Amino acid sequence: MSRRALITGITGQDGSYLAEHLLAQGYQVWGLNRGQANPRKSRVSRLASDLSFVDGDLMDQGSLVSAVDLVQPHEVYNLGAISFVPMSWQQAELVTEVNGMGVLRMLEAIRIVSGLHGSSAAGSDGIRFYQASSSEMFGKVAETPQSETTTFHPRSPYGVAKTYGHYITQNYRESYGVWGVSGILFNHESPRRGAEFVTRKISLAVAQIKLGLQDKLYLGNLDAVRDWGFAGDYVRAMHLMLQQEQPADYVVGTGRMHSVRDAVRIAFEAADLNWEDYVAIDPTLVRPAEVETLCADSSHARRELGWEPKVDFTELMTMMVESDIRQASRERDY
Ligand code: GDP
Repeated sequence: MSRRALITGITGQDGSYLAEHLLAQGYQVWGLNRGQANPRKSRVSRLASDLSFVDGDLMDQGSLVSAVDLVQPHEVYNLGAISFVPMSWQQAELVTEVNGMGVLRMLEAIRIVSGLHGSSAAGSDGIRFYQASSSEMFGKVAETPQSETTTFHPRSPYGVAKTYGHYITQNYRESYGVWGVSGILFNHESPRRGAEFVTRKISLAVAQIKLGLQDKLYLGNLDAVRDWGFAGDYVRAMHLMLQQEQPADYVVGTGRMHSVRDAVRIAFEAADLNWEDYVAIDPTLVRPAEVETLCADSSHARRELGWEPKVDFTELMTMMVESDIRQASRERDY
């Protein structure tokens, strides 16, 4: 019997990479499908014949209980979230509902379906739960680099909601014995990254500029520093976390810091262009409260999971630019 995994957020960047990774390991993969005729489902259409879907929504407790009961998963990966930080100032309550309360609802579904009460413990054959925690929880960083023991100081409603999700996962582990872990993932990108995130915004613009279809790229804070890795590397860490004997939280990142300016320079260089000819600042893109720098100390994951990233930052930006140039050329020639 193959193992069953239920993924929320399967149509997102991480969900699609994780689904591919788990299918390659022989898993039966289920995705939680939100809404009628969800247009995002086309994002995983290349896997459609291998995937199963179950209807449900992180805003609806009953639907999660039904989904977990129907699928009877061995592993649940909660990647469903509103992931773009600036949106969380505009729709703080919605982001809190999905990214924070949604975690509680999924944990409740697992607890109810597993029949866990205060004194019981799931043990190693119970449902294993992965929560997508975020480096945004470190926010105004208390120390550099950040590890599992660094104090949180979130700087956006998104970061605050993710911090709630992190602690409630820990609490269900301690209160009910739910076998749950949080992966504190630093920024991770790929050619599938949403167009609103800065790396993809840059790679898409470079492609348009290269083909002569655009002449300027407007950005906000070029001095922000992130620890950017490749999403395909990071989903391996998620899976490894659920294969351990004991549940524990892990920081996942490369340990390398780059500024937005570095990202811009590398991306334009990958297309033989000079960024200074094209990039301009739009002050409205600067955030009300900024996370200035992030850098992961992933020694726990490297030691315990044997995990390490394979793609470095230059390779990542180059991969994204080349993919967007290919796609823009195809669209132009269509
Ligand atoms: P985040 O770290 O999850 O918020 O990922 P983003 O890719 O959205 O942003 C990374 C950093 O790039 C943040 O510090 C932003 O302030 C900075 N940044 C600068 N210009 C832009 C821009 O035009 N768009 C976005 N999304 N971020 C920008």
